[in-house]
Amino acid sequence: MNRTTVSTATALATAVAAVAAVSLPTAPQGGATQGTAVRAAALVEGATPLADGTYVIGEAITAADGRANTTATAPTPRVDTACTDATYALKTWRVTGTLTWYYNGTAAAPAVAGTALQAITNASTTVAKGVNRCGKPATFTTTYKYGGTATAAPQVAADASCTGNDGKSVTGWGALPVKVLAYTCTYFSSKGVVLASDTLIDNRAYTWFTTLPANCASAYDLETTMAHERLHTAGLAHVDQTKNASQVMTPASSPCDTTRRTLAAGDYAGLAALAAQR
Ligand SMILES: [Zn+2]
Repeated sequence: MNRTTVSTATALATAVAAVAAVSLPTAPQGGATQGTAVRAAALVEGATPLADGTYVIGEAITAADGRANTTATAPTPRVDTACTDATYALKTWRVTGTLTWYYNGTAAAPAVAGTALQAITNASTTVAKGVNRCGKPATFTTTYKYGGTATAAPQVAADASCTGNDGKSVTGWGALPVKVLAYTCTYFSSKGVVLASDTLIDNRAYTWFTTLPANCASAYDLETTMAHERLHTAGLAHVDQTKNASQVMTPASSPCDTTRRTLAAGDYAGLAALAAQR
């Protein structure tokens, strides 16, 4: 009879420093493992806009935010790093004083047509003042003032290109490319001060809620999404989806997640850095 050979070779787990979120292949029995280092490509959002020396930059993609939010499922962090991770990344603009925004609800997703404005207002205040989950004072001095309804459409096209600056910051609804929940185009001066910022929210592919439904499966929280978009308007860029998973500024959102309606430490630190630029 064959005897089963029990391998006693304990697989020594090689400590791999700073691996990206890539599963390493299981070591073959008794064999040497040649680990292939796979480096996750950094997602670089947008490009540095060109300054033209005049008062409006922000034409086309270079002045726009990159993809705003996607549906790629964000991994749930094992340890909540919301208040210990102070990572942030900045764009090249900032909001000073009062930014007045308007709402165009004509094409609002029916499920939230009656409640969207309040959720967007909440998110705007969260970002203007720095409302956070970490007990930090919400005392930033910017104001995102709701200016009323607008008939003008957000200047964001269905292909997520920015279509021009009419000087009016409008948030509204429309079609966007696959996997994009919302998209923000921000126009700013040569001094990096925001002139206008338009946000388009998808009204075709996704289901939205403003109050978490009891049996939520695949719908997205409008307030969370808008907190993210308003942080782009404020001047924040994306952080790493995996390393900074608790921040509002991760590029992807998970359905049914309402934990990021308010800021984490990194989001807050980013706003503080922008405030210090004034
Ligand atoms: Zn984004």
